[in-house]
Amino acid sequence: MRTVLILGGTGEARQLAGVLTQAPHGRHRVISSLAGRVADPALPPGEVRVGGFGGPQGLAGYVRAEAVDVVVDATHPFAARISASASAAGAAAGVPLLVLRRPGWVAGPGDDWHRVPALDAAAAFIAASTHERVFLTTGRQGLGAFASLTDRWFLVRSVDPVEPPHPPRLESLLDRGPFTADREEALLTSFHIQILVTKDSGGTMTAAKLTAARRLALPVLMVDRPPVTPGVPVVADVTGALTHLRTLGIG
Ligand code: NAP
Repeated sequence: MRTVLILGGTGEARQLAGVLTQAPHGRHRVISSLAGRVADPALPPGEVRVGGFGGPQGLAGYVRAEAVDVVVDATHPFAARISASASAAGAAAGVPLLVLRRPGWVAGPGDDWHRVPALDAAAAFIAASTHERVFLTTGRQGLGAFASLTDRWFLVRSVDPVEPPHPPRLESLLDRGPFTADREEALLTSFHIQILVTKDSGGTMTAAKLTAARRLALPVLMVDRPPVTPGVPVVADVTGALTHLRTLGIG
């Protein structure tokens, strides 16, 4: 029996835990780790632990204490701190690390996307523009980057309620994907949205807003992903993860 630690908080992490806890893999011990940010998380099958490890050293200590054989970093592409922690901890504990990261989105014909390196650059773009009504789908963390835009109005969609600091003129929508393009189009239209801000999360769960923006010829500010630690193996999906895990004797 081998022990797999999945750093989760994503649909792919739940899927991987699902596959690894079923036959023919079911003989392995699968621990999923969640940060504990969301009040009512979708729980993966198998063992689940919740909460931070206390930085790379804490994670390395956990990996040793639980005799983890491989760490799969299946966290969200924008969860940069835990990913950095995983690569440092894996090296410190001498345990292989695999990154499961869904590919980013790619603009197609009819898209009017503007790539920005970070949320503060998105805020600067809006400040320099004439767009007054903004749909922010970047999550409740990081709203502070837009707090100084007092002359703009924001529709903010997040899983949990927003907390300060945030822009003063906003309406909060509590919702989580998947969404449909028709519903997204109706939302953008009914709130008279002029520009959409999103992280380049990739995947299908939340891509419908991009289709809706294209249909309505709305501009999109696409916040680029933080880079993956160089030299760490990266796979794009659960199938790729299973193939890689087999090379480590987990199959
Ligand atoms: P982050 O900035 O990279 O992580 C901050 C700290 O939270 C980490 O240093 C770690 O604490 C703890 N942490 C994060 N993920 C963890 C996990 N899976 N298990 C145990 N501890 C974890 O991450 P974040 O952006 O706040 O995201 C938190 C979680 O939400 C992640 O698991 C991610 O997959 C999920 N998520 C994030 C986004 C997003 O846009 N960022 C979107 C959807 C889901 P210690 O240093 O104490 O270990």
